[in-house]
Amino acid sequence: MHDASKPIASKLNDLCDLSASARLCCGDANSFAELTARYQTLQQHNRWLSELGDTTARMLQQESVDTLLQHIAEELVNVSCANGAYMHMVHETGDYLDILAAFGPLSDYLLGGKRYKGHGLSARVWESGIIQFVPDYNNHPDCVLELDTQIQAVLLPLSFAGEVLGVVFVTAEIDAPLDDDLDLLKQVAVIASLLIHHARQREAVSRELFRTQTLSLISATIHQHQHWDDLAYHVCPKLFDVLDLSRLSLSKTASSLSQLEAYASWCRIEGSIELCETVNSTLLNETISAWCFRNKKTAQINRAIKDARESAATHNFRKERDIGSTLSVPIIAGDTVWGVMTVCRKLDKRDFDQNDVNTLHTVIGQMSTALQRQNLLLEVQHQALHDSLTDLPNRRRFEEFLEEILRDESKAEIKKAVLFFDLDGFKNVNDSHGHAAGDAVLRQVAKRLSERAKPDVMLARLGGDEFSVVLPQLHQLDDAVQCAARFAESFTESFSVGQQEFNLGVSVGISFYPRDGVDKDDLIRHADMAMYQAKRKGRNRIVSFDHNLAKSSREEQNREIDLRKAISEQEFDLWYQPQVSLQTGLVCGVEALIRWQHPTKGILPPMKFIPLAEELGLISLVGTWVLERGCQQMVDWQHEDPVPWHMGINVSAPQVMKKEFAASVLKILEVYGIDPEKLQLEVTESMLLSDIDSVVGNFQLLRAHGVNIALDDFGTGYSSFKYLQELPVDILKIDRGFICELEEVGAMESFASTIVLLANRFGLTTVAEGVETREQLESVKQLNCDLVQGFYFSKPVTAVDLPQVITNINQAQYLKQNAA
Ligand code: C2E
Ligand code: CA
Ligand code: CA
Repeated sequence: MHDASKPIASKLNDLCDLSASARLCCGDANSFAELTARYQTLQQHNRWLSELGDTTARMLQQESVDTLLQHIAEELVNVSCANGAYMHMVHETGDYLDILAAFGPLSDYLLGGKRYKGHGLSARVWESGIIQFVPDYNNHPDCVLELDTQIQAVLLPLSFAGEVLGVVFVTAEIDAPLDDDLDLLKQVAVIASLLIHHARQREAVSRELFRTQTLSLISATIHQHQHWDDLAYHVCPKLFDVLDLSRLSLSKTASSLSQLEAYASWCRIEGSIELCETVNSTLLNETISAWCFRNKKTAQINRAIKDARESAATHNFRKERDIGSTLSVPIIAGDTVWGVMTVCRKLDKRDFDQNDVNTLHTVIGQMSTALQRQNLLLEVQHQALHDSLTDLPNRRRFEEFLEEILRDESKAEIKKAVLFFDLDGFKNVNDSHGHAAGDAVLRQVAKRLSERAKPDVMLARLGGDEFSVVLPQLHQLDDAVQCAARFAESFTESFSVGQQEFNLGVSVGISFYPRDGVDKDDLIRHADMAMYQAKRKGRNRIVSFDHNLAKSSREEQNREIDLRKAISEQEFDLWYQPQVSLQTGLVCGVEALIRWQHPTKGILPPMKFIPLAEELGLISLVGTWVLERGCQQMVDWQHEDPVPWHMGINVSAPQVMKKEFAASVLKILEVYGIDPEKLQLEVTESMLLSDIDSVVGNFQLLRAHGVNIALDDFGTGYSSFKYLQELPVDILKIDRGFICELEEVGAMESFASTIVLLANRFGLTTVAEGVETREQLESVKQLNCDLVQGFYFSKPVTAVDLPQVITNINQAQYLKQNAA
């Protein structure tokens, strides 16, 4: 009986023992025939020994497993009376026996055949590991061959360490003494098994060497490339030989991040690795690649297994393409899955083992690192050229782009434009609601502008509330203006942050290439100047650069320097204009109006510097000065006599939108000891743009303390009536414009009369502003206004002149009354 597990050394010992026992037996022999027989046996064993030695030596010379198998078949026939030997080797999948080598008359018939378990004698020996001698092969019930001649056969298992590597089917003519050679054949089989094992080991070692070499080549490749495409095309085909693949598919995480999309597949086609069809997206979702993507885990399916993670359609796909063992590994960097690599072997190849999995993990690990490195690099590059708040290109990228398009000589003839955008009213958002609200508004602005930007233009955020657009291709200059108007439409709707609504405008400046400059710096500077001009003209408009602007812009700069100095050195003064009660005809109040005593230009009216102060964020400083100066003046007048009149003080929108405004006013009143009821704050409604809520809060607090609030220039703004409903106010000041038209349209048909009716309805006091003539005064009386202010009574005068002016007005009234 064959004992596969006994080591070869002890087998050889058995053989020697056999000869020794034969020799020993000789002494006890008592018949010549017996002696002769024993001698022959001894001779035979000697012959075997030398045959075995020679056979082993020859077999050892074989280089590959294939030639070794062939040689074993030949040797088996050579050393024995057999006429054929056929090597049935267990296939790498363990599914069947493969007839890989043959020597003898049945070679053509058998070579290349397969024997599955349960089919034929060789399969039985494979399963049992037990040698089978079949003297009458043709009539054996397990015989599966149809042969013309009668043969006998022996089936020898080739085993190593308990594992059957294959079965040799040895045949002999029916009358050959095959049974005599059984022992020899057994011994040859033992040696052959050993040699096959060793030859395979050798092949495995060189395969491993090849694998290591290829892996280090792959490592080097990965090091040279960082982009997904490069990595894919350089690395994937190299994996075929390392892992003995028939197919490799790479899928990539879609931009939505929730799905996988097929990227590329490679197949081995007639020995070379080529790109082949990828699966469609529906099917991809039903594969283990998708499972692996969703679970961020390696997934493996073994040959011919219907894995529940795959759909029936996927099973079919694999079957049609002869796909067996399949391994999917996610390509993960940090927390994100970049994609999935799925490798396949043919159906008749062994399943991937741990070694294969480790190899693939190593390669994919290196790919992830490379991708991550590249990603970091891109991120750094992106950050360097983009604004972190809005993700728009930043000033650096904007200037780079402008330089690029100006450098392109082939496009030198094409007109271009640079647009500068500066938000109107943004500072208030930041000042009164904090930077978080400001940032949120800027992000919304960026989004709206982006939606209006065509693909070929460059939209950038230059910093703060400044944005810019480069138009690289214009048919005519007017196109740029239209384009600017389209961008400006972003501001027609308000911006909301939480519960707050903000109304903003935008001032736009445009410079043209080549008209206004041919280099980057000139174009930028001129667009910037044009934008400032837009601000100066009243904001929320589009202005194209013209060379006269350059001059006024320089003046502008000087004015800023001047204004800052004026504030620090308090070069201002307050003038006062009396307000007369129509009921009594006496002065009942004054309005304080600021003047700038400019060291070289003389006395400047507020319109020459208040808008600039607002724009530069200096208005609160000016405003505080006005309040304190006005209060001080009241105190001074009170020294002589308690003044019976109130004082109106103008405040700007940015001031009243500050949360702490009311508190600061009350504080000043307290410090100067002024009765809050003596103060009227005048706010121009057209300026109350963005933030109603803070304004309401401030007004409520002030009114609770007795301060009166007047809406100035009422009727000139777009939303006069809206404000009237929303704001808690006491007084409406009817703008001079409506007083002017009284004579033309007739008092009762005028807009002013509508305002008065409205004011009565809301219980508000009315002041008619800018009354210059007797006729106007009469009309205003007809309208039933409460107070009148205007040149008819007095222009604004200095604090020194005011008491005399008041006295004059009042005395005129007394005279009139007395006369009556
Ligand atoms: P306002 O509040 O509407 O002030 C009335 C303006 O009309 C004053 O111009 C005044 O001189 C002028 N005026 C008064 N009566 C007549 C008249 O009968 N005919 C004509 N043609 N004009 C008349 P002024 O002083 O140049 O002030 C202009 C604007 O500047 C003010 O308009 C006000 O909005 C603003 N302002 C003045 N002082 C301050 C201040 O201290 N702070 C702020 N934020 N704004 C101020
Ligand atoms: Ca006023
Ligand atoms: Ca006014």
